[in-house]
Amino acid sequence: MKTITEYITTDEKKNREIFAQAKEVLKQGGLVAFPTETVYGLGADALNPDACTRIYEAKGRPTDNPLIVHAKDAATAKKLAEFDEKSVTLADCFWPGPLTIVLKRKPCVPDAVTGGLDTVAVRVPAHLTAQGLLKESDMFIAAPSANLSGRPSPTEAEHVLADLSGRIDMVIADDSVNVGLESTILDMSSETPAILRPGAVTKEQIEAVLGEPVRAAKDLVPESGDDFSPKAPGMKYRHYAPKAELFLICGNKDRATGLINTLAAEAVAMGKKTFILAGSETAGKYKDGEVIDLGGNAFEASAQLFKALRRCDEEGAQVIISEGFEEKGMGRALMNRLIKAAGDNIISV
Ligand code: AMP
Ligand code: MG
Repeated sequence: MKTITEYITTDEKKNREIFAQAKEVLKQGGLVAFPTETVYGLGADALNPDACTRIYEAKGRPTDNPLIVHAKDAATAKKLAEFDEKSVTLADCFWPGPLTIVLKRKPCVPDAVTGGLDTVAVRVPAHLTAQGLLKESDMFIAAPSANLSGRPSPTEAEHVLADLSGRIDMVIADDSVNVGLESTILDMSSETPAILRPGAVTKEQIEAVLGEPVRAAKDLVPESGDDFSPKAPGMKYRHYAPKAELFLICGNKDRATGLINTLAAEAVAMGKKTFILAGSETAGKYKDGEVIDLGGNAFEASAQLFKALRRCDEEGAQVIISEGFEEKGMGRALMNRLIKAAGDNIISV
């Protein structure tokens, strides 16, 4: 299959033609990757079960890992799910934006989207290109991240093509993804609101709006156990994995810098291609290995993380050593992805 790539321009007429072309592909059950403010999504007509099934095939995604449905606005999203009063307030405050809300589904939502669950995850994205596609197509678009399963989510059209070229019909390219990490997933379908996946809409922001405590993603994951059946099925799969082993060094800043220098020196002495992921403040303190400066704060580092992991893969990294970040606000989402990428290789100093 040939994958058509169309670039969004400043010419509105041309952009509308691109959206019309994408709509045609979606109507015929095809797959279109498009940018959102979080990461690139791989879209299909959410009300067409065969089209949704193709998403799983193209990504190599386990079929019990449901898809997020994107709607053009909150009023339209209400056709898919039962919104209670609190969820209406959340939608008013955070949509369009990087918040996905899990709610009881309505009968029109196919099992192929929800993996058979009685809930559906819905989001109204803010990105102008995503908005343009949703409005011009006037469809519900099911879209997980547009990467092969297990690879870092794509933040650039090139990442999508590297993983999915020839497996999908079309990519709408527009390199203004800005958050760089996937949306916050908030479960509003049970008694206590719970964050299933942290993202750019933070626990603190949601609690301020709801005026009540919200469970953090961290508290939902048990230490171990084979029968782990998480609320967000995606949580049980290894994610965001670079090919190299990634070591995450958390805790006291000075001690962490010292340990990273020691580990990097050892790895380099063993002839291993070594990368260090660091914040701007400390990036200059490392002596061995190649340093990737992720930026000056958690927002910048989040926007750079997946790109950095892909670069490590491309350059044949064998060892990646990353600094830890403070787990508050955006830092929670950033650390959530780093912890998943590190697996068991987490050291606290
Ligand atoms: P992705 O869009 O690739 O980031 O993946 C979507 C994420 O949303 C996965 O982790 C899914 O498990 C989660 N998700 C989708 N639908 C639901 C749902 N109904 N309930 C809980 N989690 C969901
Ligand atoms: Mg994903």
